[in-house]
Amino acid sequence: MIYLDNSATTRPFDSVIKAVSENMADNFGNASSLHGLGVGAENVIKDAKKTILTALGADGEIIFTSGATESSNTVLFGVPKAHKHDGNRIVSTSFEHPSVENPLKKLEEAGYEVVRVKPPKRDESQDFEQRIIDAVDGSTVMVSVMWVNNETGFITDMSRVYAGVKRKNPKTVVHCDAVQGFRKLPSKQLKADLISLSAHKIHGTKGIGALYAGRGIRFIPLLYGGGQQKDLRSGTEPVDLIAGFAEAVRSYPDCGEKYAALSDRLISKLSELENIGINSYHNSKNILNFSVRGVRSEIMLHHLEEREIYVSSGSACSKGKTSGVPAEFGVPDRDADCAIRVSFSPFTEESDIDALVRGISDGIKRFRR
Ligand code: PLP
Repeated sequence: MIYLDNSATTRPFDSVIKAVSENMADNFGNASSLHGLGVGAENVIKDAKKTILTALGADGEIIFTSGATESSNTVLFGVPKAHKHDGNRIVSTSFEHPSVENPLKKLEEAGYEVVRVKPPKRDESQDFEQRIIDAVDGSTVMVSVMWVNNETGFITDMSRVYAGVKRKNPKTVVHCDAVQGFRKLPSKQLKADLISLSAHKIHGTKGIGALYAGRGIRFIPLLYGGGQQKDLRSGTEPVDLIAGFAEAVRSYPDCGEKYAALSDRLISKLSELENIGINSYHNSKNILNFSVRGVRSEIMLHHLEEREIYVSSGSACSKGKTSGVPAEFGVPDRDADCAIRVSFSPFTEESDIDALVRGISDGIKRFRR
């Protein structure tokens, strides 16, 4: 099997499976219990928080959630509620993941003004980060911008966004959906007051995510209950999944050079085929979106699947629905219909790329009209 759909989800590392199962067996206590088993569970959580903070190179609070969708919903609804008097304008982008975009729509319905900044087109030298900063005014309560786009890999310079927003309005809270960049790009390029993370994109398990909150950053919690995690996220902590998350963070190797080499190889081999459009630009090298013109994505996807090569058409989260995100990046509709997204992992080999391109070449012969 050649799995090239790592932006949708990843195979858990063996060390993660081991950490999760060992914790299920040995550390099944409730972290709120006062006895030794509870203390054992609490220590696992404390260690995991330290691991994630170290990986982020930040200090502050880590709140465990069920995934990035919950982390971002917590922020998008909780920040405006906690900062009612700071204004009703929210600045974001036109290419956010639905876990941010759909809460934004709800906020609009509730009367908030949402400004969605468009990305620069491939050949435009527009200063995208500056346009985000320019959209911030005295009544901007929150900025929510993703670090790496899940469909094209487009990278936003979050350090610039953060510095510029704070210069313009120090009260504006900056949130970042960092799901696709975390452990793939250097954390020193990431700066935000609140950061959404997900374990299953970095070879942890599904069902566990985190919200990083900088010191003193306030939001109203989404859930009320037993008051766990300093009342910020009630519910008994899933210690085993948390242990697996921390293990994934520790085990994810630095693949910067590997991903750049794989991406170069893929682009160069694709260029030998006719009528291929590369849709990604200014992208994280582990994600490449391209169009095989004349063959619809779904047809190509299933043709590759017959060879046990797994890729995605657009975003896995938008299954069944056409995503408007490629169009935001200037991809014409007819190319979007033929778009394939390939995403690498530390397991990806050059031979996988070669097999993929052979599969695409055969698919073109079979299906292109
Ligand atoms: N944000 C981005 C950019 C994603 O790619 C995804 C998952 O596809 C999510 C958020 C949602 O993460 P989770 O599955 O942990 O809720």
